[in-house]
Amino acid sequence: MERTPITVKTAVQSVIDHCTKKMELETVSLEAAYGRVLGEPIIAKHDVPPFNRSAYDGYAIRAEDSAGASTQSPLNFHVIGEIGAGYVGEQPLGEKEAYRIMTGAILPPNADAIVMLEDTTKTSDGFSLTKSFQTDDNISFQGEDAQKGEELIPAGSVIHPGTIALLATFGYANVKVAVLPKVSLVSTGTELLEVNEPLVPGKIRNSNGPMLQGQLARMGVPFEALGTMEDDLDACTDIIKEALKKSDIVITTGGVSVGDYDYLPEIYDRLGAKVLFDKVMMRPGSVTTVAELDGKLLFGLSGNPSACFTGFELFARPAILSMMNCTTPYMPRMKAKLEEDFPKKNPFTRFVRAIWYTEGDAVKVVPAGFNKSNAVSSIARGNGIIVLPSGSSGFSKGMEVDVLLLGQETGAHTWDI
Ligand code: AMP
Ligand code: MG
Repeated sequence: MERTPITVKTAVQSVIDHCTKKMELETVSLEAAYGRVLGEPIIAKHDVPPFNRSAYDGYAIRAEDSAGASTQSPLNFHVIGEIGAGYVGEQPLGEKEAYRIMTGAILPPNADAIVMLEDTTKTSDGFSLTKSFQTDDNISFQGEDAQKGEELIPAGSVIHPGTIALLATFGYANVKVAVLPKVSLVSTGTELLEVNEPLVPGKIRNSNGPMLQGQLARMGVPFEALGTMEDDLDACTDIIKEALKKSDIVITTGGVSVGDYDYLPEIYDRLGAKVLFDKVMMRPGSVTTVAELDGKLLFGLSGNPSACFTGFELFARPAILSMMNCTTPYMPRMKAKLEEDFPKKNPFTRFVRAIWYTEGDAVKVVPAGFNKSNAVSSIARGNGIIVLPSGSSGFSKGMEVDVLLLGQETGAHTWDI
């Protein structure tokens, strides 16, 4: 049957629209929260900092006592005690009195300015000052970072180390996060060998399976690898049926083209799954097929390694994140200057594995080597994906292009490619 190609944008939207299953919430310990999707907003439980504190190591004074200090007429201060971070100075400051104070220590009563150590000269019972200070100098104020009740991070954000710092600040020993979807992986192809098998004529090692495991591991999503399947319609159908029973998402590689042994279309048909699309106006991976059955998604990624890699990042990754109600499920994008000619015509949108880097103020990008859909070396070299829009007759060095960033903790809210 003739396949009808749809645009990448329509395909991505269709996948997201079919992520009808939303994961429940669970509570995990803060130590286990990295990479998870926040199930509740972080609301400031108190001011940060929770009290006025010294921004430097130095002395706490009453600013008015320093009025008139100059090189000609230095003023002497008497030090009545020391406040290390974590300690409290109880005694209120009197005239020309000071506390030695450390960074982060709470201001003592009556103090309203901090004198930095380097602005003082030691004396027998304290220090002298040769300049005056204003009220509030060198103080880190209660609530300057966050105020009690403020919503700081919305639900649906991916938890990264900074988020963890904020959660710890407010005493979240446990955090509500989205349950991780269950993902099954199946590699199809009679030509496939396991990683520990020697090469024999006509066979190649299964690289997509381990690659997809890495792509899921990068997202912190566990998976069940159901191994390598020969191109056998009945056996493949059974495996995928089993996979569907125990998982929310089934990712397969291979078998979605129009070859004699490409059985995935028929398997979807047998299962009664609704095929969302089986042809996308993109290179590589135009045969990428996504189907849905009872709220579960089946990603039929191409067997060609570059196409498989790209298909996962473009379709499976945002779907997995959307199921967890992540508000930034898409790869972030930036502009970069193309550093090599790319003369190929683009009837479809082209995704080119690429290396981006900075040079001076410029962000530059080069294709990561051999770039056909069956390439594996360029996936290994690449740290991004150049997007070349369809309808163009090639791109030349110096042009500005879009680059999708791989492996980012925080993504984009929207997708318009
Ligand atoms: P298919 O999508 O099954 O038509 O496969 C397309 C190409 O990708 C063929 O050259 C396959 O040998 C190759 N291929 C399929 N699956 C894998 C895999 N898991 N790892 C590496 N290459 C594969
Ligand atoms: Mg195959």
